[in-house]
Amino acid sequence: MTKTIHKLPNDLINKIAAGEVVERPSSIVKELLENSIDAGSTEVNIELENGGIQLIKIIDNGKGVHQDDFPQLFERHATSKISSLQELEQNLHLGFRGEALASISSVSHTIFASFPKDAKSGTQIDSSGEIKPVSMPHGTQVEINDLFYNVPARKKYLKTENTEYKKCLQLIEQYCLAHPEVHFSLSHNQKVIFDYSSTDKAGRIRQIFGSEFSEKLLPVFFQGNEVFIEGFVGKPELAKQKSPHQFFLINGRPIKTPAFNYAVKQAFGSLIFPQEKPQFFLWININPEDVDMNVHPRKIEARFHYEGVLFRHILRSVKHALEKTDLTKQIEIPKQNYNSFISKPAPSPSFSSPNPAPQSFNLGPSSYKPSNSKKSLTNYFQENHQRNTQTLNNSYTSNPEPQSKPKLYPLAQIENSYILCQGESSLVIIDQHAAHERILYEQFKAEALSQSPKSQKLLTPIQIQLTPKETKTLEEAQETLTKIGFDITILGQDSIGIQGLPAKFTKTNLEELIKDLLDDIQNNDSFQNLSDLEDIVINYAACRGAIKFGQPLTRDEMIALIQEMEKIEHKQYSCPHGRPSKVEITFKQLEKQFKRIK
Ligand code: ADP
Ligand code: MG
Repeated sequence: MTKTIHKLPNDLINKIAAGEVVERPSSIVKELLENSIDAGSTEVNIELENGGIQLIKIIDNGKGVHQDDFPQLFERHATSKISSLQELEQNLHLGFRGEALASISSVSHTIFASFPKDAKSGTQIDSSGEIKPVSMPHGTQVEINDLFYNVPARKKYLKTENTEYKKCLQLIEQYCLAHPEVHFSLSHNQKVIFDYSSTDKAGRIRQIFGSEFSEKLLPVFFQGNEVFIEGFVGKPELAKQKSPHQFFLINGRPIKTPAFNYAVKQAFGSLIFPQEKPQFFLWININPEDVDMNVHPRKIEARFHYEGVLFRHILRSVKHALEKTDLTKQIEIPKQNYNSFISKPAPSPSFSSPNPAPQSFNLGPSSYKPSNSKKSLTNYFQENHQRNTQTLNNSYTSNPEPQSKPKLYPLAQIENSYILCQGESSLVIIDQHAAHERILYEQFKAEALSQSPKSQKLLTPIQIQLTPKETKTLEEAQETLTKIGFDITILGQDSIGIQGLPAKFTKTNLEELIKDLLDDIQNNDSFQNLSDLEDIVINYAACRGAIKFGQPLTRDEMIALIQEMEKIEHKQYSCPHGRPSKVEITFKQLEKQFKRIK
């Protein structure tokens, strides 16, 4: 019998393996960047041509490779980073499989040159395996030409230059974020795209996404026994439906973890609409033994030993960051060009008072300090750095001192729907329904938890006819309704008796209210992201029981509403559906609009 099974030649094995590691130019850029970072480089320069298809060149100033190691460089499973299973588990390097250079050099014209600081000269090797001395600066230079020149089947799958370039850029940005301490620069087709000097986390975000975006970020910080979390989440107003910036940088590596994305989304809860996604940049350090990076050949996914614990820490630290901040949405007034009419700001009339706030607006104690939520990211990190050097154990400390709240004074009700208020440094407009809905929601949640609802007894209990379907829904929701102050008896398949209501419910047509509420719960169009029936019932009860849009309010009622809002502190900024419950225009913005300041 003739033998049909034989071992494949090395070159072919490498080409086949390259299928896993090298999919497109961006996968090569990733491997080379990881090698440069692993080599301790502080400066990495990337040059691309034709989206990386023609040329990828990476120059670093890392520790380099010694001449003696060159013969192994393009060998499969040859690495300097680990030598045992134990080292694999404790590995903090980005690479460890020893596959990248072998794979890449088998599907391109590769030239790898390196000159370590303690060597006499530089050495170079190319895809053919030829090794020779070369003159070069300290560090490593890798050049990848003509990707897939010898595997036409794979070359066919590459997209246009522009698409490949965008994929490279996206990937490079992720590594720039993961390692803000490294100076990165990029050029494409000889044009400089960026040059990011070494900085801190906040600085890197600003370099990439600009300062206007960075101003809307809130710091997140948590240090526990098994995890260290540091970074930023975007204020709720930055949440968006399409392509939000969502980055987890875990042990120096950008990692995709849908489960943790969900943790952040949960932390935002009803501060954003269900279909919106929050934006965030979270750097997480965990013990390398607690994470398995070896689940994906390109190491873009990971498996966590304490996934549940991490999930909770992420959720709680983001929640904490949100709770510590004044999230009132500021109205952005578009810049108008009045310059053709007014050449310089009009002088103040001589009779104007230097302090235009009328005395009658007593806005609370003079010790009021403006909110510090807008402190710069740089300040935050300076403070945080000091805090890091103290030992913190399992504490959420993103912003230690509670912020004083601005007191609001109601000026008028507009359209029977909005309350216009003067704040300490802004004009605030409250959506009366959204605000009351949020107040009721928080009260009901607290009452359901404490099992001590505040109820108002009806003088004459009423009886309501229901359809069997409505009665069924009521049966399901009854436990929660009782917990929040309803006193309802099911009298039969098609009728119920009501003896009591939650204390804070606005009086209205009770029969209509109950039927609407049951209808809401049955259809549940608004809270499809909630799975817990209790939460759904409470959400709808809050919505149905709240002051209506269009309902006239007395001044006392407005004051009462504002006081209730202040009691629920950070939760006052949106209704449970995620709509803002108040917006503000700062006096500064007004002054700008009226050309008092520039
Ligand atoms: P791995 O990174 O998994 O070890 P690679 O094939 O990517 O495998 O690289 C093989 C080896 O080449 C590395 O272990 C490292 O010793 C060396 N190396 C590659 N790139 C660089 C670089 N830019 N600077 C210093 N050493 C490098
Ligand atoms: Mg590598």
